Amino acid sequence: MAVVSVLLPLPLPEAFDYVVPPELTLGLGDVVEVPLGQNLRIGVVWAVKPDSDGSNLKPVKSRFASPPFSHALRQFIDFAARYLVTPPGQVLAMVLRQPEALGPGPFERLAVATGLRPDKLNEARTRILECALKPIPRAALAKAAGVGSGIVTALLKLGALEEIERPVDLPFGTPDPTLPARPLSEMQADAAYMIAKAASAGGFSPFLLDGVTGSGKTEVYLEAVAQALIARPDEQVLILLPEIALTQAIVARFEQRFGAAPAQWHSDIGAAQKRRTWREVAAGRARIVIGARSALFLPFAKLSMILVDEEHDGSFKQDDGLRYHARDMAVARAKFEQATIVLGSATPSMETRLNADAGRYQRLLLPSRYGVALLPDVSLIDLKESPPERDQWLSPVLVQAMAETLEQREQVLLFLNRRGYAPVVLCRKCGHRMKAPDTESWLVEHKYSNRLVCHLTGFSMRKPDACPNCGAEDGLVSVGPGVERIAAETTERFPDARIEIFSSDTAHNPQAVRELVARMEKGEIDILIGTQIVAKGHNFPNLTLVGVVDADLGLKGGDPRAGERTYQMLSQVAGRAGRADRPGRALIQTHYPDNEALQALVMGDRDAFIEAESLGRAAVGAPPFGRMAAMHIMAQTDEAVDAAAQAASDALFPADGVEVWGPAPPPLAMIRGWRRRRFLIQSSKEVDLSAFMAAWRSGFRVPGSVRVSIDMDPYSFL
Ligand code: ADP
Repeated sequence: MAVVSVLLPLPLPEAFDYVVPPELTLGLGDVVEVPLGQNLRIGVVWAVKPDSDGSNLKPVKSRFASPPFSHALRQFIDFAARYLVTPPGQVLAMVLRQPEALGPGPFERLAVATGLRPDKLNEARTRILECALKPIPRAALAKAAGVGSGIVTALLKLGALEEIERPVDLPFGTPDPTLPARPLSEMQADAAYMIAKAASAGGFSPFLLDGVTGSGKTEVYLEAVAQALIARPDEQVLILLPEIALTQAIVARFEQRFGAAPAQWHSDIGAAQKRRTWREVAAGRARIVIGARSALFLPFAKLSMILVDEEHDGSFKQDDGLRYHARDMAVARAKFEQATIVLGSATPSMETRLNADAGRYQRLLLPSRYGVALLPDVSLIDLKESPPERDQWLSPVLVQAMAETLEQREQVLLFLNRRGYAPVVLCRKCGHRMKAPDTESWLVEHKYSNRLVCHLTGFSMRKPDACPNCGAEDGLVSVGPGVERIAAETTERFPDARIEIFSSDTAHNPQAVRELVARMEKGEIDILIGTQIVAKGHNFPNLTLVGVVDADLGLKGGDPRAGERTYQMLSQVAGRAGRADRPGRALIQTHYPDNEALQALVMGDRDAFIEAESLGRAAVGAPPFGRMAAMHIMAQTDEAVDAAAQAASDALFPADGVEVWGPAPPPLAMIRGWRRRRFLIQSSKEVDLSAFMAAWRSGFRVPGSVRVSIDMDPYSFL
């Protein structure tokens, strides 16, 4: 009797055994349906035991038509589970997200003209037959011909139309890599050649594509993909992007280059599109896939190349549910797939740089912008020396530069990574700060919607007229600026300028983002005021001045990557200026002009900053020179969370090269009523920190009402 172990997409410690009924033959990776308790569940065959005693086991119910999971995908799932200290079923759940894509799938009924002409051919009938020369859904046919559906039915009966069934999920167009490409610069061509050579040879080969903003990394990607498609005609390519708002521009460039739209995978495509993408990816027919981080978990039949654009970007880290870093997991997946992987950035992460320095990744350099464009000139505005006027946020130096730019009929971008009007509202009588009721965070004032909003949980309330603490009327004041407040100040100073805010509040979906970007590109906006959403990827040829309102925002807090992140963010923002033939400049307002990250931006000396940052981190063994993990304990009451944290603490055991701090309340000590305690764990590189965490976690139990979550390589320290 054959027995199979089936992994289920549930947080269970291991796969369950089932007996294979005589009518089924099952192999590794097959997607099957099995009984679990009262229900049927979808799972994947993880092991096959040919001659076993299955007499006590329940039988597998059925096998899906979907192709089996590849060996590489199964290995990747096991690896990710072990690395992230999570049950493998939880990683599998990331892959099995479209159960509807497993079966033969929905079909639609279409009508098509048979060529038979009925005797009575009036005008309406003729129109219908003309519209049905190619198969068309019945409802759409009546509509297209502008007639009632009764006439369609009549023509079907007469045999002038026939009905056919077609799967709803059509294959994606086949990309044609031989279409003419733009001529590449020598540097671009060299980089593309190296990647293409590796892709043709096959095997795991990781690259860092280190190219300044505007150097044309996308052109390199396009050429590398073209070569990979030619060299490996049955294999697939995945492009991972940090922001779905950026996908449309890239999708359009791929479509232009290859004459067919690539498959997409991100939260903004509907369920039907996801089903189609999943099915076509699993079948190996979708050859180019562009997606956000979770596209990494698609069931590629054979993946030959992964491109991770803006690899340094923090949004590749997922911080709820399965906590993973899509860049790091992409490298792991490429290893199992024996694929080429390219990590592209103008400001590579320290992790990736270290790998390139050590020779683990091959480094490809694009040190200058494409064409005549030059990198912008960056200077600092010391806010102590030229402070803004009272209750204003733009220093006279920046205002002057804005006036000059507008006079030249060029565009200005003001950057402030803070949504809303003011980050804090407090009572000037009693000092009370407006706080979310169940979360340890200040409420942000939004003037346009006239609400106080918690950006963490989405809680919002009308701004009260009186202080809820002391009752003082008109006591509440807005402290500090958000983009709305900067827009108000800018409007006052430049009443004739066309001013827009670009944040997730004003551009809440990709369509709105596209529209705003298009208006900026067309020159319909003079001053754009934006949060980090403006920093990435966009090309505004007439933008020549970037003003950073507060460079100091990201420098505070206990995050070991604060300096690096500030540097990356600001050089991305500054990189929006002067991308075409007009030179650009960036003015950065700060109270700390001596800060190393800011000095490096001014000097254009990225490597000096990285050098200093490396020394600092290496000295304390911080990532990437050491490993880090976090363990969060969460419960609904202080007593419960403290008791569980104590249990975790008691289960700790000494291990060489591992240091543990905590438990302590993190800055966000409560979210949605969940009290939080945190351990931070740091180890040397040689330690298998995942194994340590797994051993520790298995050494204590907590009540069902307590949550314990482990975050390997944490990026958030809130
Ligand atoms: P990056 O992603 O490195 O910031 P992009 O790929 O967006 O840069 O390219 C910057 C600009 O230069 C774009 O407008 C792009 O169309 C243009 N460009 C880059 N390479 C070429 C090329 N080989 N031929 C024509 N235009 C190019």
